[in-house]
Amino acid sequence: MATTTRFAPSPTGLLHVGNIRTALHNWLLARKAGGRFLLRIDDTDAARSREEYVAAIRADLAWLGLAADGEERQSARFDLYEREFARLVAAGRVYRCYETAQELELKRKVRLGRGLPPVYDRAALALGEADHAAKAAAGELPHWRFLLDHDQPIAWDDGVRGPQRFDAAAMSDPVLRRADGSWLYMLPSVIDDIAMGVTDVLRGEDHVSNTATQVQMFAALGAAVPAFAHEALLVGSEGKLSKRLGSLGMAELREAGIEPEALVALLARLGTSQPVEPIAARGEIITSFDLASFGRAPARFDEAELTRLNAQIVHQLPFERVAAQLPDGMGASAWEVIRPNLSRVSEAGEWWQVVTGPVALPEFAEDDAAYVAQAAAVLAELAWGEDVWARLTSSLQESSGRKGKGLFQPLRLALTGREHGPDMAALLPLIGREGALERLEAAGSV
Ligand code: GLU
Repeated sequence: MATTTRFAPSPTGLLHVGNIRTALHNWLLARKAGGRFLLRIDDTDAARSREEYVAAIRADLAWLGLAADGEERQSARFDLYEREFARLVAAGRVYRCYETAQELELKRKVRLGRGLPPVYDRAALALGEADHAAKAAAGELPHWRFLLDHDQPIAWDDGVRGPQRFDAAAMSDPVLRRADGSWLYMLPSVIDDIAMGVTDVLRGEDHVSNTATQVQMFAALGAAVPAFAHEALLVGSEGKLSKRLGSLGMAELREAGIEPEALVALLARLGTSQPVEPIAARGEIITSFDLASFGRAPARFDEAELTRLNAQIVHQLPFERVAAQLPDGMGASAWEVIRPNLSRVSEAGEWWQVVTGPVALPEFAEDDAAYVAQAAAVLAELAWGEDVWARLTSSLQESSGRKGKGLFQPLRLALTGREHGPDMAALLPLIGREGALERLEAAGSV
């Protein structure tokens, strides 16, 4: 069966870097295996799910180039859940309970006080049909629990954590359905993973104990258990993922000038034994993806590292990739000259302004002003061409006796209004003969 993975966000908020990391890894797992990556919108909770978040999830995935090969919405699948649930009822694998939250809390405390694991005591299993009828007559509606098979050891070989074993008897029978008939996350997820042909479930380690009970749900529904892998969570550089980082949405990152390639390069490798590198080529990220390289320790997300990586990625981006983000008139050669100076694509505008002018007039000491005026005179006599900077400066070196910084820096200042910037040899042809003469003359006459 072709590898099929899924990303299953609840549309109750915007995706943050942690969710995106899970989406990316599922996408990579599928791409590497030549399989399918599916999007499942977990919107069983009608009150908290919002259409705008569904749209934002799709937009964020598209921005990152993580398009899904198919999409399902849980809210459109209630009939299926009902049918599958009926099978569990018929098989005696779910049962009706009536305890209130307070009663359950009390039971928990009593068990803990006796030194027993705080699991549900299955008291409701003792209720007979007459009891249920009496409850119904009194207007009491049941919630439903899954009956774990205590004799069936729970085990799987986790793709990240290695062999996992759980004792079913040490776990509470999970509630699958509330008294109002609504679904908790657990069962619909299993039903969908079966129906959608999901072969690999890769998610955060906060789901490990869910997996333990879900393994038995797959079996109870007569399905093969998919391969499970639980990755360590993403934390901030100083521990927990801070409120700010934890809620860093893609729109904010986009606004901060982070390119999708940078986020992907970082999140693909963070928390693995492979080095984080500025890899812009998606193919390379895909082929090097390896669950076996994932560590058990939390992955540390550091915004400064993302910013650094982003700059390194920007330096590689081809013109066609960024053309739409560049100022009007800025062409491929200008992009290539300017690119090494950027930490964000949006900064290209400032450098394009330097190319097209006007630039700020520098304040020169008298001898520098005279030197720049001399440069204007020399340039006026030179044939223009791609190597004009080399010819200009070697001629000036000879005539002025200047060298090094004294030779180059006044020219850079006069031509760009700045102390640092792109390679002048490449920049001067972009500025053009007329602009260059104008700037040198203006600076030289101060
Ligand atoms: N909607 C669930 C969540 O966001 C999905 C978990 C899963 O991948 O099964 O936690």
